[in-house]
Amino acid sequence: MHHIIIGGSIAGISAAKAIRSSDVISEITIISEERTKPYYRPMIPFLIEKDEIDITFVDDPIGKYGIKVVYEKVTGIDVESKEVLLSSGKRLNFDKLLITTGSSPIIPDIGGLKGSGVFTLRTMDDALGIKEYSKGRRNAVVLGGGLVGIKVAIALKHIGLNVTIIELKQILYGRLDRRGSEIISGIVKKSGVDILTGDSISEIIRESDNIKAVRLSSGRIIDADIVIIAVGAKPNVDSFKNTGIKINKGVAINEYLQTNIPDIYAAGDVAEYPDVTTGMSALSVLWTTAEEMGRLAGKNMAGDNLKYRGFLSVMNSTEIFNIPVISIGLIETGDKDFEIITEEDINDYKKLIFKGNILVGAIFIGNITNAGIYTNLIKNKIPIGRLKQKAVRGTLSYINFVTMSPIQTLTA
Ligand SMILES: Cc1cc2nc3c(=O)[nH]c(=O)nc-3n(C[C@H](O)[C@H](O)[C@H](O)COP(=O)(O)OP(=O)(O)OC[C@H]3O[C@@H](n4cnc5c(N)ncnc54)[C@H](O)[C@@H]3O)c2cc1C
Repeated sequence: MHHIIIGGSIAGISAAKAIRSSDVISEITIISEERTKPYYRPMIPFLIEKDEIDITFVDDPIGKYGIKVVYEKVTGIDVESKEVLLSSGKRLNFDKLLITTGSSPIIPDIGGLKGSGVFTLRTMDDALGIKEYSKGRRNAVVLGGGLVGIKVAIALKHIGLNVTIIELKQILYGRLDRRGSEIISGIVKKSGVDILTGDSISEIIRESDNIKAVRLSSGRIIDADIVIIAVGAKPNVDSFKNTGIKINKGVAINEYLQTNIPDIYAAGDVAEYPDVTTGMSALSVLWTTAEEMGRLAGKNMAGDNLKYRGFLSVMNSTEIFNIPVISIGLIETGDKDFEIITEEDINDYKKLIFKGNILVGAIFIGNITNAGIYTNLIKNKIPIGRLKQKAVRGTLSYINFVTMSPIQTLTA
Protein backbone atom coordinates (compact mmCIF):
# COMPACT_ATOMS: atom_id res chain seq x y z
CA MET A 1 0.00 0.00 0.00
CA HIS A 2 1.40 3.42 -0.96
CA HIS A 3 0.00 6.54 0.76
CA ILE A 4 0.85 9.84 -0.90
CA ILE A 5 0.34 13.13 0.92
CA ILE A 6 0.55 16.37 -1.04
CA GLY A 7 1.85 19.15 1.25
CA GLY A 8 4.28 18.76 4.15
CA SER A 9 2.88 21.18 6.72
CA ILE A 10 0.72 20.58 9.81
CA ALA A 11 -2.15 18.72 8.10
CA GLY A 12 0.20 16.55 6.02
CA ILE A 13 2.62 15.75 8.83
CA SER A 14 -0.23 14.96 11.27
CA ALA A 15 -1.70 12.58 8.69
CA ALA A 16 1.63 10.85 8.07
CA LYS A 17 2.12 10.30 11.80
CA ALA A 18 -1.46 9.03 12.18
CA ILE A 19 -1.07 6.53 9.32
CA ARG A 20 2.19 5.28 10.76
CA SER A 21 0.72 4.91 14.25
CA SER A 22 -1.79 2.36 12.87
CA ASP A 23 0.21 0.87 10.01
CA VAL A 24 3.93 0.18 10.26
CA ILE A 25 4.26 -1.47 6.85
CA SER A 26 2.76 0.76 4.14
CA GLU A 27 4.88 3.20 2.18
CA ILE A 28 4.25 6.90 2.98
CA THR A 29 5.47 9.67 0.68
CA ILE A 30 5.00 13.38 1.36
CA ILE A 31 5.34 15.63 -1.68
CA SER A 32 6.23 19.18 -0.73
CA GLU A 33 7.01 22.13 -2.94
CA GLU A 34 8.51 23.92 0.09
CA ARG A 35 12.06 22.69 0.45
CA THR A 36 12.21 23.13 4.20
CA LYS A 37 11.77 21.02 7.27
CA PRO A 38 8.17 21.30 8.50
CA TYR A 39 7.72 24.41 10.64
CA TYR A 40 5.13 26.26 12.75
CA ARG A 41 3.69 28.60 10.11
CA PRO A 42 1.95 30.95 12.60
CA MET A 43 5.42 31.72 14.01
CA ILE A 44 6.98 33.03 10.77
CA PRO A 45 6.45 36.71 11.74
CA PHE A 46 9.04 36.11 14.52
CA LEU A 47 11.65 35.34 11.83
CA ILE A 48 11.39 38.98 10.75
CA GLU A 49 12.31 40.36 14.15
CA LYS A 50 14.45 37.67 15.78
CA ASP A 51 17.83 36.33 14.64
CA GLU A 52 18.24 33.20 16.72
CA ILE A 53 14.93 31.39 16.49
CA ASP A 54 14.12 27.86 15.41
CA ILE A 55 10.50 27.42 14.32
CA THR A 56 10.88 23.94 12.81
CA PHE A 57 8.79 21.09 14.24
CA VAL A 58 9.98 19.69 17.53
CA ASP A 59 8.89 16.23 16.38
CA ASP A 60 9.63 16.01 12.65
CA PRO A 61 8.78 12.50 11.40
CA ILE A 62 10.25 12.93 7.91
CA GLY A 63 13.10 10.52 7.38
CA LYS A 64 11.98 8.57 10.46
CA TYR A 65 9.54 5.64 10.56
CA GLY A 66 9.96 5.21 6.80
CA ILE A 67 8.21 8.47 5.93
CA LYS A 68 9.79 9.79 2.73
CA VAL A 69 9.64 13.26 1.23
CA VAL A 70 9.86 14.34 -2.40
CA TYR A 71 10.54 18.07 -2.84
CA GLU A 72 8.48 18.86 -5.93
CA LYS A 73 5.26 20.56 -6.92
CA VAL A 74 2.29 18.36 -7.79
CA THR A 75 0.86 19.64 -11.07
CA GLY A 76 -2.04 17.24 -11.49
CA ILE A 77 -3.74 14.00 -10.52
CA ASP A 78 -4.83 11.18 -12.80
CA VAL A 79 -7.70 9.72 -10.81
CA GLU A 80 -8.19 6.82 -13.25
CA SER A 81 -4.63 5.49 -13.15
CA LYS A 82 -4.19 6.67 -9.51
CA GLU A 83 -1.09 8.74 -10.24
CA VAL A 84 0.12 12.16 -9.17
CA LEU A 85 1.94 14.24 -11.76
CA LEU A 86 5.05 16.11 -10.64
CA SER A 87 6.62 19.29 -12.00
CA SER A 88 9.64 17.25 -13.14
CA GLY A 89 7.36 15.24 -15.42
CA LYS A 90 7.53 12.15 -13.18
CA ARG A 91 4.43 10.27 -12.11
CA LEU A 92 3.96 8.51 -8.79
CA ASN A 93 1.39 5.77 -8.16
CA PHE A 94 -0.78 5.89 -5.05
CA ASP A 95 -3.26 3.60 -3.40
CA LYS A 96 -4.56 6.37 -1.10
CA LEU A 97 -3.97 10.07 -1.59
CA LEU A 98 -4.35 13.03 0.77
CA ILE A 99 -4.47 16.64 -0.43
CA THR A 100 -3.14 19.11 2.16
CA THR A 101 -1.93 21.92 -0.08
CA GLY A 102 -3.07 24.73 2.25
CA SER A 103 -3.69 28.20 0.91
CA SER A 104 -1.85 31.10 -0.73
CA PRO A 105 -2.12 34.87 -0.30
CA ILE A 106 -4.65 36.73 -2.43
CA ILE A 107 -3.01 39.44 -4.55
CA PRO A 108 -5.38 42.30 -5.41
CA ASP A 109 -5.13 44.23 -8.65
CA ILE A 110 -3.06 47.29 -7.72
CA GLY A 111 -0.97 49.51 -9.99
CA GLY A 112 2.81 49.27 -9.48
CA LEU A 113 2.76 45.82 -7.86
CA LYS A 114 5.50 44.50 -10.15
CA GLY A 115 9.03 45.24 -9.00
CA SER A 116 11.01 44.98 -5.80
CA GLY A 117 9.73 45.70 -2.29
CA VAL A 118 6.27 44.07 -2.45
CA PHE A 119 5.79 40.99 -0.28
CA THR A 120 3.20 38.59 1.05
CA LEU A 121 3.73 36.51 4.19
CA ARG A 122 2.91 32.83 3.90
CA THR A 123 6.21 30.95 4.02
CA MET A 124 9.48 30.95 5.90
CA ASP A 125 11.15 32.27 2.72
CA ASP A 126 8.66 35.17 2.59
CA ALA A 127 9.53 36.13 6.18
CA LEU A 128 13.28 35.97 5.54
CA GLY A 129 12.81 38.00 2.33
CA ILE A 130 10.93 40.71 4.27
CA LYS A 131 13.61 40.76 6.96
CA GLU A 132 16.42 41.15 4.41
CA TYR A 133 14.64 43.81 2.36
CA SER A 134 13.70 45.83 5.46
CA LYS A 135 17.34 46.45 6.37
CA GLY A 136 18.03 50.18 6.12
CA ARG A 137 14.40 51.01 5.12
CA ARG A 138 12.20 53.43 7.03
CA ASN A 139 8.56 53.17 6.04
CA ALA A 140 6.42 50.06 5.71
CA VAL A 141 2.81 49.92 4.57
CA VAL A 142 0.75 46.82 5.30
CA LEU A 143 -2.40 46.33 3.23
CA GLY A 144 -4.93 44.42 5.34
CA GLY A 145 -5.65 44.50 9.08
CA GLY A 146 -6.35 40.80 9.58
CA LEU A 147 -4.32 38.44 11.74
CA VAL A 148 -1.42 38.21 9.28
CA GLY A 149 -1.40 41.99 8.64
CA ILE A 150 -1.29 42.79 12.36
CA LYS A 151 1.41 40.20 13.06
CA VAL A 152 3.66 41.47 10.27
CA ALA A 153 3.04 45.10 11.29
CA ILE A 154 4.11 44.34 14.87
CA ALA A 155 7.24 42.53 13.66
CA LEU A 156 8.22 45.43 11.36
CA LYS A 157 7.61 47.93 14.17
CA HIS A 158 9.86 45.88 16.44
CA ILE A 159 12.74 46.18 13.95
CA GLY A 160 12.36 49.94 13.86
CA LEU A 161 10.25 50.76 10.79
CA ASN A 162 7.41 53.27 10.72
CA VAL A 163 4.40 51.09 9.98
CA THR A 164 0.95 51.97 8.63
CA ILE A 165 -1.84 49.42 8.26
CA ILE A 166 -4.40 50.23 5.56
CA GLU A 167 -7.69 48.39 6.08
CA LEU A 168 -10.85 48.69 4.05
CA LYS A 169 -13.22 47.60 6.82
CA GLN A 170 -12.05 47.23 10.43
CA ILE A 171 -9.15 45.57 12.24
CA LEU A 172 -9.66 41.80 12.52
CA TYR A 173 -12.82 42.07 10.46
CA GLY A 174 -14.77 38.81 10.58
CA ARG A 175 -12.85 37.69 13.67
CA LEU A 176 -14.05 40.36 16.10
CA ASP A 177 -17.13 42.54 16.49
CA ARG A 178 -16.89 46.32 16.11
CA ARG A 179 -16.09 46.99 19.78
CA GLY A 180 -13.47 44.23 19.94
CA SER A 181 -11.88 45.64 16.81
CA GLU A 182 -11.77 49.14 18.37
CA ILE A 183 -10.05 47.76 21.45
CA ILE A 184 -7.40 45.93 19.41
CA SER A 185 -6.91 49.00 17.19
CA GLY A 186 -6.25 51.02 20.34
CA ILE A 187 -3.65 48.51 21.53
CA VAL A 188 -1.90 48.39 18.14
CA LYS A 189 -1.92 52.19 17.75
CA LYS A 190 -0.48 52.61 21.27
CA SER A 191 2.53 50.61 20.09
CA GLY A 192 3.16 53.25 17.43
CA VAL A 193 1.65 51.44 14.41
CA ASP A 194 -0.68 53.73 12.42
CA ILE A 195 -4.01 52.34 11.26
CA LEU A 196 -6.11 53.83 8.48
CA THR A 197 -9.51 52.20 8.02
CA GLY A 198 -12.05 52.70 5.25
CA ASP A 199 -9.26 52.95 2.68
CA SER A 200 -7.17 50.80 0.35
CA ILE A 201 -4.11 51.10 -1.88
CA SER A 202 -4.86 52.06 -5.47
CA GLU A 203 -1.25 52.38 -6.66
CA ILE A 204 2.30 51.72 -5.55
CA ILE A 205 4.36 54.70 -6.65
CA ARG A 206 7.89 53.87 -7.78
CA GLU A 207 10.99 55.82 -8.76
CA SER A 208 12.87 53.57 -11.17
CA ASP A 209 12.41 50.19 -9.42
CA ASN A 210 12.23 51.44 -5.82
CA ILE A 211 8.97 52.04 -3.98
CA LYS A 212 8.57 55.68 -2.93
CA ALA A 213 4.97 55.84 -1.67
CA VAL A 214 1.51 54.38 -1.97
CA ARG A 215 -1.54 56.19 -3.28
CA LEU A 216 -4.72 55.33 -1.39
CA SER A 217 -8.21 55.07 -2.86
CA SER A 218 -9.03 58.26 -0.94
CA GLY A 219 -6.26 60.02 -2.86
CA ARG A 220 -3.98 60.32 0.15
CA ILE A 221 -0.30 59.53 -0.43
CA ILE A 222 1.82 57.78 2.21
CA ASP A 223 5.62 57.37 2.13
CA ALA A 224 6.67 53.75 1.76
CA ASP A 225 9.82 51.73 1.07
CA ILE A 226 8.24 48.31 1.47
CA VAL A 227 4.64 47.10 1.00
CA ILE A 228 3.19 43.93 2.51
CA ILE A 229 -0.02 42.58 1.00
CA ALA A 230 -2.11 40.74 3.62
CA VAL A 231 -5.68 40.73 2.35
CA GLY A 232 -6.48 37.06 2.87
CA ALA A 233 -5.71 33.66 1.43
CA LYS A 234 -7.29 31.28 -1.07
CA PRO A 235 -7.07 27.47 -1.09
CA ASN A 236 -4.43 25.91 -3.36
CA VAL A 237 -6.71 23.95 -5.71
CA ASP A 238 -5.40 24.90 -9.14
CA SER A 239 -3.54 21.61 -9.66
CA PHE A 240 -6.72 19.61 -9.06
CA LYS A 241 -9.16 21.43 -11.31
CA ASN A 242 -10.51 19.28 -14.14
CA THR A 243 -9.42 16.06 -12.43
CA GLY A 244 -12.92 15.02 -11.41
CA ILE A 245 -12.31 15.97 -7.77
CA LYS A 246 -15.15 18.19 -6.56
CA ILE A 247 -13.95 21.70 -5.86
CA ASN A 248 -16.08 24.60 -4.71
CA LYS A 249 -13.94 27.21 -3.00
CA GLY A 250 -11.81 24.44 -1.54
CA VAL A 251 -11.79 20.66 -2.02
CA ALA A 252 -15.19 19.38 -0.87
CA ILE A 253 -15.00 16.57 1.71
CA ASN A 254 -17.44 14.41 3.66
CA GLU A 255 -17.38 13.61 7.38
CA TYR A 256 -14.64 11.01 6.81
CA LEU A 257 -12.44 13.63 5.10
CA GLN A 258 -13.00 11.87 1.75
CA THR A 259 -13.44 13.71 -1.52
CA ASN A 260 -15.99 12.53 -4.11
CA ILE A 261 -13.28 10.28 -5.61
CA PRO A 262 -12.63 6.96 -3.83
CA ASP A 263 -9.31 6.78 -1.95
CA ILE A 264 -8.67 10.53 -2.26
CA TYR A 265 -8.93 12.62 0.93
CA ALA A 266 -8.35 16.29 1.77
CA ALA A 267 -7.56 18.11 5.02
CA GLY A 268 -6.45 21.48 6.40
CA ASP A 269 -6.82 24.93 4.85
CA VAL A 270 -7.58 23.48 1.41
CA ALA A 271 -10.57 21.42 2.59
CA GLU A 272 -14.13 22.72 2.57
CA TYR A 273 -16.65 21.40 5.09
CA PRO A 274 -19.89 22.64 6.70
CA ASP A 275 -19.38 25.04 9.63
CA VAL A 276 -20.71 23.61 12.92
CA THR A 277 -22.91 26.60 13.76
CA THR A 278 -24.22 27.68 10.34
CA GLY A 279 -24.16 24.38 8.45
CA MET A 280 -22.81 26.32 5.45
CA SER A 281 -19.72 25.13 3.59
CA ALA A 282 -16.65 26.94 4.88
CA LEU A 283 -12.86 26.94 5.02
CA SER A 284 -11.30 26.88 8.44
CA VAL A 285 -7.78 28.29 7.82
CA LEU A 286 -6.70 27.49 11.37
CA TRP A 287 -3.65 25.59 12.55
CA THR A 288 -5.54 23.51 15.14
CA THR A 289 -8.24 22.52 12.64
CA ALA A 290 -5.60 21.51 10.07
CA GLU A 291 -3.90 19.34 12.69
CA GLU A 292 -7.16 17.61 13.69
CA MET A 293 -8.34 17.10 10.10
CA GLY A 294 -4.93 15.76 9.05
CA ARG A 295 -4.82 13.34 11.99
CA LEU A 296 -8.32 11.98 11.29
CA ALA A 297 -7.71 11.71 7.55
CA GLY A 298 -4.52 9.75 8.25
CA LYS A 299 -6.35 7.38 10.59
CA ASN A 300 -9.09 6.81 8.01
CA MET A 301 -6.56 6.24 5.23
CA ALA A 302 -5.06 3.55 7.45
CA GLY A 303 -8.43 1.80 7.72
CA ASP A 304 -10.33 3.54 10.52
CA ASN A 305 -13.77 5.02 10.06
CA LEU A 306 -13.59 8.09 12.26
CA LYS A 307 -16.13 10.89 11.81
CA TYR A 308 -15.01 14.52 11.77
CA ARG A 309 -17.16 16.68 14.07
CA GLY A 310 -16.51 19.83 12.05
CA PHE A 311 -15.11 23.25 12.84
CA LEU A 312 -16.32 26.70 13.71
CA SER A 313 -15.25 29.06 10.94
CA VAL A 314 -14.82 31.74 13.59
CA MET A 315 -12.52 30.15 16.15
CA ASN A 316 -9.53 32.35 16.83
CA SER A 317 -7.04 32.30 19.58
CA THR A 318 -4.12 34.66 19.36
CA GLU A 319 -2.09 37.22 21.28
CA ILE A 320 -1.65 40.82 20.27
CA PHE A 321 1.10 42.56 22.22
CA ASN A 322 0.75 39.82 24.85
CA ILE A 323 -3.00 40.39 25.20
CA PRO A 324 -4.94 37.19 24.55
CA VAL A 325 -7.80 37.45 22.08
CA ILE A 326 -10.33 34.66 21.54
CA SER A 327 -13.43 34.65 19.36
CA ILE A 328 -15.71 31.68 18.84
CA GLY A 329 -18.76 31.10 16.64
CA LEU A 330 -21.16 33.96 16.00
CA ILE A 331 -19.52 37.27 16.91
CA GLU A 332 -22.01 39.86 15.71
CA THR A 333 -25.73 39.89 14.98
CA GLY A 334 -28.49 42.44 14.75
CA ASP A 335 -31.13 39.71 14.91
CA LYS A 336 -33.57 40.22 17.83
CA ASP A 337 -33.81 36.45 18.36
CA PHE A 338 -30.38 36.57 19.97
CA GLU A 339 -29.52 37.74 23.47
CA ILE A 340 -26.23 39.64 23.63
CA ILE A 341 -24.38 40.24 26.89
CA THR A 342 -21.24 42.37 26.96
CA GLU A 343 -18.91 43.32 29.81
CA GLU A 344 -15.96 45.65 29.63
CA ASP A 345 -13.46 47.21 31.98
CA ILE A 346 -10.03 48.74 31.50
CA ASN A 347 -8.21 45.60 30.42
CA ASP A 348 -10.93 43.15 29.49
CA TYR A 349 -13.78 42.73 27.04
CA LYS A 350 -16.25 39.86 27.07
CA LYS A 351 -19.21 39.24 24.79
CA LEU A 352 -21.58 36.29 24.88
CA ILE A 353 -24.32 35.64 22.33
CA PHE A 354 -27.15 33.27 23.25
CA LYS A 355 -29.93 31.88 21.12
CA GLY A 356 -32.48 30.83 23.72
CA ASN A 357 -30.75 28.35 25.97
CA ILE A 358 -27.72 27.86 23.75
CA LEU A 359 -24.51 29.85 23.64
CA VAL A 360 -23.74 30.45 19.95
CA GLY A 361 -20.83 32.89 20.09
CA ALA A 362 -18.30 34.53 22.38
CA ILE A 363 -15.44 37.02 22.39
CA PHE A 364 -12.81 37.37 25.10
CA ILE A 365 -10.07 40.01 25.10
CA GLY A 366 -7.74 40.09 28.09
CA ASN A 367 -9.29 37.67 30.57
CA ILE A 368 -9.70 34.35 28.76
CA THR A 369 -10.33 32.20 31.83
CA ASN A 370 -12.35 29.09 30.95
CA ALA A 371 -12.55 30.01 27.25
CA GLY A 372 -12.21 26.27 26.57
CA ILE A 373 -15.51 25.63 28.37
CA TYR A 374 -17.28 28.25 26.26
CA THR A 375 -15.80 26.74 23.08
CA ASN A 376 -17.12 23.33 24.10
CA LEU A 377 -20.58 24.77 24.79
CA ILE A 378 -20.70 26.50 21.40
CA LYS A 379 -19.20 23.67 19.35
CA ASN A 380 -21.47 21.03 20.83
CA LYS A 381 -24.56 23.31 20.97
CA ILE A 382 -25.08 22.27 24.58
CA PRO A 383 -28.27 23.63 26.18
CA ILE A 384 -26.92 25.64 29.09
CA GLY A 385 -29.93 25.36 31.40
CA ARG A 386 -29.59 26.94 34.82
CA LEU A 387 -25.91 27.64 34.25
CA LYS A 388 -26.58 30.67 32.09
CA GLN A 389 -25.90 33.11 34.92
CA LYS A 390 -22.66 31.29 35.75
CA ALA A 391 -21.64 31.57 32.12
CA VAL A 392 -22.39 35.29 32.17
CA ARG A 393 -20.53 35.86 35.44
CA GLY A 394 -17.60 33.76 34.21
CA THR A 395 -17.85 31.29 37.06
CA LEU A 396 -18.47 28.16 35.02
CA SER A 397 -16.10 25.37 35.91
CA TYR A 398 -15.05 22.06 34.40
CA ILE A 399 -16.85 20.29 37.24
CA ASN A 400 -20.10 21.20 35.45
CA PHE A 401 -18.97 19.00 32.57
CA VAL A 402 -18.06 15.89 34.43
CA THR A 403 -20.89 13.65 33.28
CA MET A 404 -21.98 15.68 30.31
CA SER A 405 -22.46 14.52 26.75
CA PRO A 406 -23.36 16.87 23.90
CA ILE A 407 -27.03 16.04 24.22
CA GLN A 408 -27.27 16.51 27.97
CA THR A 409 -28.41 19.72 29.53
CA LEU A 410 -25.95 21.18 32.01
CA THR A 411 -26.92 20.99 35.61
CA ALA A 412 -25.95 23.52 38.23
C1 LIG B 1 1.63 34.66 9.11
C2 LIG B 1 0.61 33.65 9.51
C3 LIG B 1 0.11 33.65 10.79
C4 LIG B 1 -0.84 32.71 11.18
N1 LIG B 1 -1.29 32.73 12.46
C5 LIG B 1 -2.19 31.80 12.86
C6 LIG B 1 -2.66 31.76 14.22
O1 LIG B 1 -2.28 32.61 15.05
N2 LIG B 1 -3.53 30.78 14.57
C7 LIG B 1 -3.96 29.84 13.67
O2 LIG B 1 -4.74 28.96 14.03
N3 LIG B 1 -3.55 29.86 12.38
C8 LIG B 1 -2.69 30.81 11.96
N4 LIG B 1 -2.26 30.81 10.65
C9 LIG B 1 -2.87 29.85 9.71
C10 LIG B 1 -2.17 28.46 9.76
O3 LIG B 1 -0.81 28.63 9.55
C11 LIG B 1 -2.81 27.55 8.72
O4 LIG B 1 -4.17 27.35 9.06
C12 LIG B 1 -2.09 26.19 8.64
O5 LIG B 1 -0.74 26.36 8.31
C13 LIG B 1 -2.77 25.29 7.60
O6 LIG B 1 -2.05 24.10 7.52
P1 LIG B 1 -2.11 23.18 6.21
O7 LIG B 1 -1.22 22.02 6.50
O8 LIG B 1 -3.51 22.95 5.83
O9 LIG B 1 -1.51 24.08 5.02
P2 LIG B 1 -0.18 24.93 4.90
O10 LIG B 1 0.44 25.17 6.22
O11 LIG B 1 -0.51 26.10 4.04
O12 LIG B 1 0.79 23.96 4.09
C14 LIG B 1 0.52 23.53 2.78
C15 LIG B 1 1.82 23.05 2.17
O13 LIG B 1 1.54 22.45 0.91
C16 LIG B 1 2.47 22.93 -0.06
N5 LIG B 1 1.87 22.84 -1.40
C17 LIG B 1 0.86 23.60 -1.90
N6 LIG B 1 0.57 23.21 -3.16
C18 LIG B 1 1.41 22.19 -3.46
C19 LIG B 1 1.60 21.37 -4.61
N7 LIG B 1 0.84 21.52 -5.72
N8 LIG B 1 2.57 20.43 -4.58
C20 LIG B 1 3.34 20.25 -3.45
N9 LIG B 1 3.21 20.99 -2.33
C21 LIG B 1 2.24 21.95 -2.33
C22 LIG B 1 2.69 24.38 0.38
O14 LIG B 1 3.87 24.92 -0.19
C23 LIG B 1 2.79 24.20 1.90
O15 LIG B 1 4.09 23.85 2.28
C24 LIG B 1 -1.32 31.74 10.24
C25 LIG B 1 -0.82 31.75 8.93
C26 LIG B 1 0.13 32.69 8.56
C27 LIG B 1 0.66 32.67 7.15
